[in-house]
Amino acid sequence: MPVPSVYPLLEPLLPLVRKPVQYVGGEVNSVVKDWEAAAVRWALMYPDAYEVGVPNQGIQILYEILNERDGVLAERSYSVWPDLEKLMRTHGVPQFTLESHRPVRAFDVLGVSFATELCYTNLLTALDLAGIPLNAADRGEDDPLVIAGGHAAFNPEPVAEFLDGAVLGDGEQAVLAITGLIRDWKQAGRPGGRDGLLLTLATSGGVYVPRFYDVGYLPDGTIGSLRPNRPKVPRAVAKHTVTDLDSWPYPAKPLVPVAESVHERISVEIFRGCTRGCRFCQAGMITRPVRERSVTTVGDMVETGLNNSGFSEVGLLSLSSADHSEINEIVTGLADRYEGTSTGLSLPSTRVDAFNITLAEELSRNGRRSGLTFAPEGGSDRIRKVINKMVTEDDLIKTVSTAYANGWRQVKLYFMCGLPTETDEDVLAIAGLAHRVIEAGRAASGRRDVRCTVSIGGFVPKPHTPFQWAAQCDDATVDARLSALAGALRADRSCGKAIGYRYHDGRPSIVEGLLSRGDRRVAKVIRAAWADGARFDGWSEYFSFERWERCAAEALAADGVDLAWYTTRERGYDEVLPWDHLDAGLDRDWLWEDWQAAIDPAGAAEVEDCRWTPCFECGVCPAMGTEIEAGPTGAKLLPLTVVAGSSGATGAVASPGASPATPAGRGQAGGVTPATPAGRGQAGGVTPATPAGRGQADPGESVLTSVAGRAR
Ligand code: SF4
Repeated sequence: MPVPSVYPLLEPLLPLVRKPVQYVGGEVNSVVKDWEAAAVRWALMYPDAYEVGVPNQGIQILYEILNERDGVLAERSYSVWPDLEKLMRTHGVPQFTLESHRPVRAFDVLGVSFATELCYTNLLTALDLAGIPLNAADRGEDDPLVIAGGHAAFNPEPVAEFLDGAVLGDGEQAVLAITGLIRDWKQAGRPGGRDGLLLTLATSGGVYVPRFYDVGYLPDGTIGSLRPNRPKVPRAVAKHTVTDLDSWPYPAKPLVPVAESVHERISVEIFRGCTRGCRFCQAGMITRPVRERSVTTVGDMVETGLNNSGFSEVGLLSLSSADHSEINEIVTGLADRYEGTSTGLSLPSTRVDAFNITLAEELSRNGRRSGLTFAPEGGSDRIRKVINKMVTEDDLIKTVSTAYANGWRQVKLYFMCGLPTETDEDVLAIAGLAHRVIEAGRAASGRRDVRCTVSIGGFVPKPHTPFQWAAQCDDATVDARLSALAGALRADRSCGKAIGYRYHDGRPSIVEGLLSRGDRRVAKVIRAAWADGARFDGWSEYFSFERWERCAAEALAADGVDLAWYTTRERGYDEVLPWDHLDAGLDRDWLWEDWQAAIDPAGAAEVEDCRWTPCFECGVCPAMGTEIEAGPTGAKLLPLTVVAGSSGATGAVASPGASPATPAGRGQAGGVTPATPAGRGQAGGVTPATPAGRGQADPGESVLTSVAGRAR
C-alpha cells in the first residue's frame, strides 16, 4: 500500500522552529530506497537530538548493512525538539524518518538505540507522536515492532512494557537474522500474527521479548521469581558477539550531517571490547572479549571513509584506543599516509598508562593536536585500586608531561564522585593531582600557559558490573564533595586559571541510577514523568529532578519501594536482580568475588588485564563461544601509491597530497569548530555541566550494537 511522505505537512512548520535543517535529511551518503520494492523496512531511531544522534556509529553501521541488502530498507529518525513537537501535535504530523519523511508507524520495525537511560522519555514522545500505543500489549497487527538495543538494553526492564523486544550485544548479524525472520513470516502469510512473530524472534532469533517473562515480587519489594511464560522461550537471553570484526568494515560511507553535530569526523572502530576490568565500567564488562581489527583493515576503512565523506579528521575509536596491540603501527602508518594533508588523527579514548611518546609524536605530526582526554576516574591511588583502574599518580604525571612536551597545551581529566568506599579525602586529592599536572606541564613545556580541565560527575552503579550490588552515593554527599573540591581548586592560587572545573551535580545521577538498576515497576515512574512533561532529560535545561522525585514518590507508593530503595540501597548476593535473566556472559559469582575484592577492608585487590595475562575466568569466553582476538601481527600500513589526480572513492589508489573534499557548507579542516550544543558548558571556570553522564554519548554506541563508549 502506498505510504505518502509527510513532508508537505512538515515543511510549513519548519520556519517556525529552531534549527529546521536538522529535519530535512539529504545528508551525503544517506540512502533512499524504493519503498514498494522492500520486503522488510526498518526505522532506526536515536532518541536524542539530531546533533547527538547523527554521528552515532551503531546507527550508521546498521543503516549501511541493512540498506546493502536487496529487499531491505532502513531509514533514520531522531527526537524532535519540544518546539517542533508542539507544532506536530497541533498540525497532526506524525514522527517521521529523514530519508523519505514517511511516518515511523508505517515501518515493520522501529529499532531504538539506548546509549543512556536518560533518553527513555524521548522514546515515549516518539511513540506517541507516531501514533504507536505506548504499551506494547496495546499494539495491533499494523504497528511496528519496537526493538531496543545499545548498552542500556542490557537492563531494559524499566522500559519493558514499552518494548516488543530487546537485542543484547553486537547488532551486525542480529539485524540480518531478525530481518530474515520477519521476511519469512510475511511471505508465509504472517502465521500467528504479531504474537507468532514475537514468539519466533524469542525462540530462534536471539531477541528478548519481555512479555514472555513473568516477574513476581516478595513482600520486601525484591524480585521473587522471574521466569518464561511460554514453552521454548529460553530462561536466559544471551548477548550477540561478532567475532571477526574485519569481516564487518562498517561504516564505509559515513553520513555527513547537514546541521552541526557533536563530532565532525569519521570514526573507525579499531577494536571492540575491553578486558582491563575497571569495576565501574559497564561498557568494558558487556563488550568482552577484546576483538581487534587488523592494521590493514583499519587503514582501508580510514581511506574509504575519508574518500566517501570528505571529512578531514579521523577518530580511532574503542574503549581504550591506545591498548590496540599495534596502535603504534596504526598511527605511524596513518601519519605517513596523510602527511602534508589537512587530515588529523585523534584517539577519543586513551588510557593514561597506554599513551606513549610515539603516539604523542604521530598524533601531532601534521601540527594538529585535537583534545587529549585521560580518565584517572579517582583522585587517590587508594580509590583507583578499589575501582581497579590501575593507574598511579606517577603514571599520570609521566603521561601528561609527554603530552605537554609534544605541544599540547590542554588536557582534560575525567573523574567520578561517589565511588564505593570513597571518602572526602579521595575527592579532595583531585585538587593536588591537578596541581601536580600543571607543574609538570610547565616544566615539560617550558611555558606557563598550559591548562588542565577537571571534569567530574556522580558515579552510577550499572548492571553487569561488579558494582551492580553497590549502594549509590546520595546526591547531597556528592554535591558536598564537589563543592569542597571546587573550593580546594580555587584555593590553589599558584595555578591561577590554569585549572578548569566542570561538574555534573549529583541529582541527575540519582535519576540515572533509578533507570539503570530499575525493574518493571519503574515504567510507571517513566510514564508519569513523561506525562508531566519530561523530555530530553540528558540536557540540563530540560531536566527537572523535582519532577522525577515527585513522580517516583507517587507512582511507587503502592509498591512499598521508593527512589532511595532503587538507588542508595546496597544489594545482597541472594537478591534476584532485574537483569539476572539477561546474559552478558559474565559469571555471576566472578562478579560477586570481584565486588568483594573491591571493598575488602584490608585493601582492594586488583585484577590484571587478561589480554596479557592468563585467563582469570570471568566466564565470557566459554559462555559465548568466543575468545580474545588480539595480538601483534607484524603488519605495516604502507603509504598509498601516489597517482596524480586520483581520488577514487573506493579504490586502493589515492593521492595522499590531495586535500579531502570539504563536506558541503562546512569550510576547510580546522576552520569550523562545531558549536557547543546548548547547555553543554565549555571547559574553564566553574561550570555546571549537563546531566547526561560525560557530556556526549560516545559515537561507538549503537542501536543494536555494543561498540564503544563510556557507559557508567
Ligand atoms: S573468559 Fe578469560 S580470557 Fe575471556 S574475557 Fe574472561 S578473563 Fe578474559
